[in-house]
Amino acid sequence: MSDSEAVLTADRLYRFYRAGDEETLALRGVSFEVEPGQVVVVVGPSGSGKSTLLSCVTGLDEPSGGTVWLGSQRMSHRPDAQRARLRAEAIGVMGQERNLVAHLSVAGNVRLSQRLAGRRASTDDVLEAVGIRHRQDAYPHELSGGETARAGLAVALANHPRMLVADEPTGELDEATEQRILALFKERAGAGAGVLIASHSPAVRRAADHVLSLTDGVLTP
Ligand code: ADP
Ligand code: MG
Repeated sequence: MSDSEAVLTADRLYRFYRAGDEETLALRGVSFEVEPGQVVVVVGPSGSGKSTLLSCVTGLDEPSGGTVWLGSQRMSHRPDAQRARLRAEAIGVMGQERNLVAHLSVAGNVRLSQRLAGRRASTDDVLEAVGIRHRQDAYPHELSGGETARAGLAVALANHPRMLVADEPTGELDEATEQRILALFKERAGAGAGVLIASHSPAVRRAADHVLSLTDGVLTP
């Protein structure tokens, strides 16, 4: 690790799910850092805890134990509203159509993301950057898979986040579109952001500066 301060630090994260007598240990002491400019990819079989990990680091979920830091700010163990504010300010979250509001156009979705972060800015630049400006008036259900991914990325990038987090962002994309999305991730990292992606894709894995392998909630070498 270099001397620069990590954009994101996960310190011994645990996440237990309880349903009656059943207990699932989705994360069992996961620690890692993402540094500015670094693309970190989380790989692992289905059910290994990738989505749980990403939800905990973005503050969408609370770890049962351990701490998440965004730079020097603690993200975990805070009220939902505070986590939401920190997330809006510092993290772009991309998860296929999951970050698009169905009744808003593509541009409307980007604008919503800007408002949540208390920003007023043009949506043109970010839509142009991800190559979706020509579809800015379309609604999510009218978009192809590749367009959906680009619109989701535009929403994630709307506030120039220090940290970009994406759960299986290229899962349903053809290779050319996947390469395009990957290039945009790399470009954000090149501009100094930290990037964390959960993915099964060999192409995403190849684009990583660092790979985290998750098995049954534990990082394996
Ligand atoms: P992955 O993204 O790697 O497929 P997940 O993080 O979705 O893995 O799931 C990790 C484990 O936690 C799985 O055993 C899954 O069934 C369990 N799990 C995930 N979310 C919940 C939940 N809300 N309630 C109970 N168990 C859950
Ligand atoms: Mg998952």
